[in-house]
Amino acid sequence: MNNDNIEKKPAELKDQALNKVSGGSKHPYMYCTIDSDLCKGCGACANSCDHFAIDVVEISDRGTFCNINDYECVGCGDCIPYCKFGAIKGHMS
Ligand code: SF4
Ligand code: SF4
Repeated sequence: MNNDNIEKKPAELKDQALNKVSGGSKHPYMYCTIDSDLCKGCGACANSCDHFAIDVVEISDRGTFCNINDYECVGCGDCIPYCKFGAIKGHMS
C-alpha cells in the first residue's frame, strides 16, 4: 500500500466513518474514496478490487470515472497502489 495516499480523517467526517463501521463489513480504521477530479476512468482500480466495490461510471458531459461503493468497500486499501494518478485516498478513522 502507498502510505503517502493515506490521510488522517478530518474530525467532521467522524460520524460518517462511524456510520460506515456500524453498517456492516467495514474495516474499523480505514475507508477509501476516489477523487473524481483526479480519476481518469482507466478502470485499473475496479479490476483490482476483490470485493467488487468500485463501479465504473459514465456521464455524458463528464466522461468516465470510478466510484467506490460505500456498502461494499471493506477499507482494505488494496486498490490504492493501482491508481497511477493518486486519485484513491485511504482515510483513517
Ligand atoms: S485507477 Fe485511478 S484513474 Fe484509474 S479509474 Fe481508478 S481511480 Fe480512476
Ligand atoms: S479499499 Fe479494498 S474493498 Fe475498498 S474499494 Fe479498495 S480494494 Fe475494494
